[in-house]
Amino acid sequence: MLDKQDPLADKKALFALPDNVIYLDGNSLGAMPLAAKQRAETVVCEQWGNGLITSWNQHNWIGLPQRVGNKIGNLVGAAEGQVVCCDSISVNLFKVLSAALKMRPDRQYIATTKDNFPTDIYMAEGLIAQLGDTHKLTFIDEQNIVDALHEDIAVLMLTQVNFRSGYRQDMKAITKAAHDKGILVVWDLAHSAGAFEVELDACEADFAVGCTYKYLNGGPGAPAFIYVASRHQQQYIQPLSGWMGHASPFNFDPHYQPADGIKQNLSGTPGVVGMSILEASLEVFDGIDLCEIRNKSVALMEWFSQCLKSCGLDTQLESFSPPVDVRGSQLAFRHPEAYAICQAWIAEGVIADFRAPDILRIGFAPLYLSFSDIADAVTRLRDVVQQKTYLQSAFQQKQAVT
Ligand SMILES: *Cc1c(COP(=O)(O)O)cnc(C)c1O
Repeated sequence: MLDKQDPLADKKALFALPDNVIYLDGNSLGAMPLAAKQRAETVVCEQWGNGLITSWNQHNWIGLPQRVGNKIGNLVGAAEGQVVCCDSISVNLFKVLSAALKMRPDRQYIATTKDNFPTDIYMAEGLIAQLGDTHKLTFIDEQNIVDALHEDIAVLMLTQVNFRSGYRQDMKAITKAAHDKGILVVWDLAHSAGAFEVELDACEADFAVGCTYKYLNGGPGAPAFIYVASRHQQQYIQPLSGWMGHASPFNFDPHYQPADGIKQNLSGTPGVVGMSILEASLEVFDGIDLCEIRNKSVALMEWFSQCLKSCGLDTQLESFSPPVDVRGSQLAFRHPEAYAICQAWIAEGVIADFRAPDILRIGFAPLYLSFSDIADAVTRLRDVVQQKTYLQSAFQQKQAVT
């Protein structure tokens, strides 16, 4: 019934999903678009295998970072020339934080939240150590960011959607409040890009980073992206001054001269295979309005909660999710046996994930999830919880990647 009214229902056919598996982990690693598989074959066998080095020009490999960057820009509300595809979020944070600190030389602090994704915090710590401890990291409360801002903060580094709880920050209001105090803002869009409308330009964001293997379905280890607002590109200097970010890399000049614009963010040779696959994967978003994706995400989350309630599971799993208007595209539940429940659920063909210490996290990727998938997943969860199959020792042992 709900599936019949779903305007995105036909998008599932663009993905390869194993039979009998319900995938609720698209927020960690998106499913594989069929176009990705085809492009993998083309880029490896034809472009590399037959074209060899001529493919840099012939198939415009050299233009991939900017071409793919602009395509991602489209999905995060950034006009052309402000997004480039490269490296990982971690590395891109190093670039952007370094550049931002240089733009606010009189200020001492990088502000973030304690519950930010650890790599974001680690990269800030590493940068501060590298600078000789001239700067400090300060933690502010995620529920009360605006009131904590002050004029010694150079950069505010925030992840828009909390990776555990799904709590979503108000990008526009926070960016404005930060600017009122002269603070630059770096947004991490790991759980935003491809999940709902993001309006970087309209919110006057300064910088952003994001990955492409989650809701953008770019594949394992797919390259990340970086956004630098046009108005900052003249002043912006990032320290990883590799040859691909040089104004003319093939002049092999002994001195570094940064390229104009967003291209300066490139350091070394792009990972052509991964980036080509990502380029093809992004085609699944062609012609789709991100509002439609958000609407379906909200409907799927509501349907999940309703199904949970109808089988009485809502009393056994403690909801840890914020209200829908301040939530990304995931639900989180607490249970002391969350890890084992997740493992037992996976054995029943439903892949969700666990986040320490006790959180069962369920991601909703509207392009390839149906309402009947959700009902089915909850039925299997009911069996796992009511029959306590999660108590079996096989489900209790922690694996390397959780
Ligand atoms: C997934 C994720 C990352 C991953 O960073 P990489 O350097 O690309 O591995 C970073 N930040 C957040 C908020 C994430 O959710």
